[in-house]
Amino acid sequence: MAHLEIPELFGSNVFNDKTMKERLPKETYKALKKTVEKGAALKPEVAAVVANAMKDWAIGKGATHYTHWFQPLTGSTAEKHDSFIDPTADGGVIMEFSGKQLIQGEPDASSFPSGGLRATFEARGYTAWDCTSPAFLKEDALGDVTLCIPTAFCSYNGEALDKKTPLLRSMKAVSEQALRVLRAMGDGGVSRVISTVGPEQEYFLVDKAYYMERLDLMTCGRALFGAPAPKGQELEDQYFGPIKDRVASYMKDLDVELWKMGVSSKTKHNEVAPAQYEMAPVFATTNIAADHNQLVMETMQKVALRHDMVCLLHEKPYAGVNGSGKHNNWSLSTDTGQNLLEPGNTPHDNAQFLVFLCALLQAVDTHADILRATCGSSGNDHRLGANEAPPAIISAFLGSELTDILTKLAKGEKATSAAAAFMKIGVDTLPEFPKDNTDRNRTSPFAFTGNKFEFRMLGSSQSISGPNVALNTTVAEALDQIATRLEKAKNVNTEIQAIVRDTVNNHGRIIFNGNNYSEEWVVEAEKRGLGNVGNTVDALKAFVTKKSIKLFGKYNVLSKEELHSRTEIYTEQYAKHINIEAQTAIQMVRRLYIPAAIYYVTDLGTSAAGAGKHGSVQKELLGQVSELLEATNKCLKTLEKETAKAQAVANVEKQAAAFRDKVVPALQCLRTGVDALEGLMPRDLWPVPTYADLLFKL
Ligand code: ADP
Ligand code: MG
Repeated sequence: MAHLEIPELFGSNVFNDKTMKERLPKETYKALKKTVEKGAALKPEVAAVVANAMKDWAIGKGATHYTHWFQPLTGSTAEKHDSFIDPTADGGVIMEFSGKQLIQGEPDASSFPSGGLRATFEARGYTAWDCTSPAFLKEDALGDVTLCIPTAFCSYNGEALDKKTPLLRSMKAVSEQALRVLRAMGDGGVSRVISTVGPEQEYFLVDKAYYMERLDLMTCGRALFGAPAPKGQELEDQYFGPIKDRVASYMKDLDVELWKMGVSSKTKHNEVAPAQYEMAPVFATTNIAADHNQLVMETMQKVALRHDMVCLLHEKPYAGVNGSGKHNNWSLSTDTGQNLLEPGNTPHDNAQFLVFLCALLQAVDTHADILRATCGSSGNDHRLGANEAPPAIISAFLGSELTDILTKLAKGEKATSAAAAFMKIGVDTLPEFPKDNTDRNRTSPFAFTGNKFEFRMLGSSQSISGPNVALNTTVAEALDQIATRLEKAKNVNTEIQAIVRDTVNNHGRIIFNGNNYSEEWVVEAEKRGLGNVGNTVDALKAFVTKKSIKLFGKYNVLSKEELHSRTEIYTEQYAKHINIEAQTAIQMVRRLYIPAAIYYVTDLGTSAAGAGKHGSVQKELLGQVSELLEATNKCLKTLEKETAKAQAVANVEKQAAAFRDKVVPALQCLRTGVDALEGLMPRDLWPVPTYADLLFKL
């Protein structure tokens, strides 16, 4: 693709601002803009005009259907396609799309998880147009085009059944409180504060032919078995290494597909593990970033198939090499284009920066448990708190200079660090910060990276909505408290210094600039009273504590009922995922590994008998393989028994705990035996592709 075509291509499948300006009558355009930017109610007349223009645009690009595109609590997206056709009296059809069809849909919602919020006998759910995220066209490889309307999904009573609704509510909450702070600091020109996110997406690619021979990859997204290949990632030759042609061609197609839908795919590179890659877009408004990340995950998988590959988004597809995460770069910016986490050039800007930094530290320290919970999933349990980065302990990295500035300010002392030259401490002046004062710390779960925070706990396959709902809401609460102090203060600058002092004193424990992977940190964090919850089932409980219910209730983000329903759904999802893994493992062992091993043992027996006194090698192997076979069979029986028991537990939380405590260890035990067998058996008798096939044959 010639580079000149890209500006034309980018967003060509989006009903974006440019297209709306071109296609909507001026008044309609203005009214819609007002709704998008100021949250004003959308009049039905306006919706009707927009719908018609949208339909004409979509049909012009080959669309025959539209769908209300939404994000149920499964974590993926949902779409039901309706054609534009409307039969006429003379037996023909016209293409119709009304304002009402644009604004609201009524999908039968009984098959989506609701966690008890919606009884199935009144299974109606409603989808409502989120006009802050532009409509777009999805094109499939065979040329089918569908108009997708981003929507929120609610129950009959208005309870959120999706990931978008609370995200929108949380954006409103953080905007309101941030505005109060800005106003109290004398900034009257801002009318909206927007949380922004740039999610870096990691993924694996595997050749489709090998994938198809691995039931575990197909049903669980990860290899439940597999002896390590002789080479892993120890040579560090994959990270940022040259990209293979086959992968480069995939990445190029992926870029084109994403660009058409207005997703600003920007960075691509090889990641640490063999066959692992990353894509990062340019950051956007949280709501759009969340929609786009769903599209990214979907498109990554779709495009891979066109290249005879499969894209694995699981957090830990292969034991022994790095897993995949999603780095959630987060900040707040004003509608006047100012990044509120950007240290500035003037004392006033720096004061503002400090205030927002303090809000972040307070939020993360107060609600570390909630942030941790938003990243809980069976897949991410292999990363958080297991033998992989980042740890399950939440701490914030600020870098030594910024930490020094904060601590000195808190004590009312003059800074003696390298930053001292930039500091002017006084009651009425605040320090000027050196630019780029953060060194990099790759081990921190929550790192300040110059003008934004990077939350690194997210799993690669998860929706980014939950973590950002939590970030926005917890920061809203901290800003609320800060605003109240500033509004009451006689001298705002003195109060800011007091806020810095109190933040350092009350929440300074959350700052950690050292190595988060070290064992000393685990001990130190415990001394500091920081949480360290290593599994999803326990982590999820943080959503329904009194503290959490109060927080999300106060800012109208999630009600008590909504929090309970979500916790139940996520806990149940954990159990279901482990159950699928157990059933897959049982099938593979019963139908593939044990038969293969028996075949080999039989062969060895025949060969040993025929070799007479020269049969020692066969006999030795026969002994080893038979022993492993028996051990494997024993573990298999345990797994079958424990899985059946866990399946029979009625209480959701107890069931998830049974899967965690009994089934997960049984799976591990089974894997140990099978992987050892793989090391002894002939390659041509081994019934599935090996790690070397999966990781290196691309
Ligand atoms: P690195 O790997 O060094 O962390 P990347 O370029 O891979 O950097 O990703 C950084 C991400 O942070 C990008 O998606 C970028 O757009 C995003 N980002 C930059 N500034 C902001 C901001 N103010 N708010 C949110 N995200 C941001
Ligand atoms: Mg990166």
